[in-house]
Amino acid sequence: MSFKILVCIKQVPDTDDIKWTEHNTIQREGLESIINPFDLGAIELALKAKDMLSKSNVQAEIDVISMGPPQAKQALMTALALGCQNAFLLSDKKFSAADTLATAYTLSQFITTKIPDYKLIICGQQAIDGDTAQTPSSMAQKLNTAQITNAVALQEINEAYSIWVQDTKSQKRTVKSGFPLLVATTLKNIEKLPDINGYIRAQKTEIKVCNAEEINADKAKIGLLGSPTQVKKAFVPEIQRNTTLIENEPTNHCANYILNEIKSCKANNE
Ligand code: FAD
Repeated sequence: MSFKILVCIKQVPDTDDIKWTEHNTIQREGLESIINPFDLGAIELALKAKDMLSKSNVQAEIDVISMGPPQAKQALMTALALGCQNAFLLSDKKFSAADTLATAYTLSQFITTKIPDYKLIICGQQAIDGDTAQTPSSMAQKLNTAQITNAVALQEINEAYSIWVQDTKSQKRTVKSGFPLLVATTLKNIEKLPDINGYIRAQKTEIKVCNAEEINADKAKIGLLGSPTQVKKAFVPEIQRNTTLIENEPTNHCANYILNEIKSCKANNE
């Protein structure tokens, strides 16, 4: 039985071009979409883990999973071309407009139902559209598995444990854990680009599509129905800045000017 590594990837709209639906969710259809950059980092780490395991004669297999509209197949094709072996698209109208709780439930329900023998799950730390970074930890809690967030590198891996470098900005340390394990990485992008053989292999690999019924999902826990978080209003903020340039003034004049500005802003907001 091979060592199962799962990678969760999200197809995100190219962030310069966000449009909204009437539910205040992102309009994904027909938008230029990319693989969430942190998820490319997750694929990079999965490929490294597979390579390290093969050096100790452990055969690993990388399954890539995405929940999204049918167009998310494009992201899975790229993941296959990059070196993942199997691809699964969780796609069903009932999954749409999910918040992170419903997303984490759907992904965890798929894993419990279809790939319960996994050892390692690698996610991006956050998705650049929703940007909550809530899904990975929520999945770990639902799957009752250990988790390491803010992972920046894989130091060692074998059948019994793995050692990761965790960088939370305030602290950098190594963390060792047994399996099963969920890792969320802040690594962005990927070193190796797909080659022609990767694209040919991706073309020949069937992307399995699963709907809510096939993963025995509880209807009350998926999509809009299963999402206690309702995005009230989503808009691209207009950045208004009235700037005053203070130049060629001695520093104490600048400090006094800024102080008076802060005082008058405070007075206006009281
Ligand atoms: P994150 O939790 O930031 O993603 C982290 C990692 O989880 C990803 O790198 C990926 O590895 C994995 N992952 C996430 N989504 C998927 C997926 N669909 N398929 C496979 N892997 C995935 N929902 C909330 O619950 N609370 C909010 O505050 C909230 N705010 C939002 C604000 C905006 C502007 C938008 C557009 C959406 C918001 N949502 C929120 C909805 C949220 O985007 C979706 O629930 C989304 O599917 C998961 O949340 P996220 O994008 O923040 O992912």
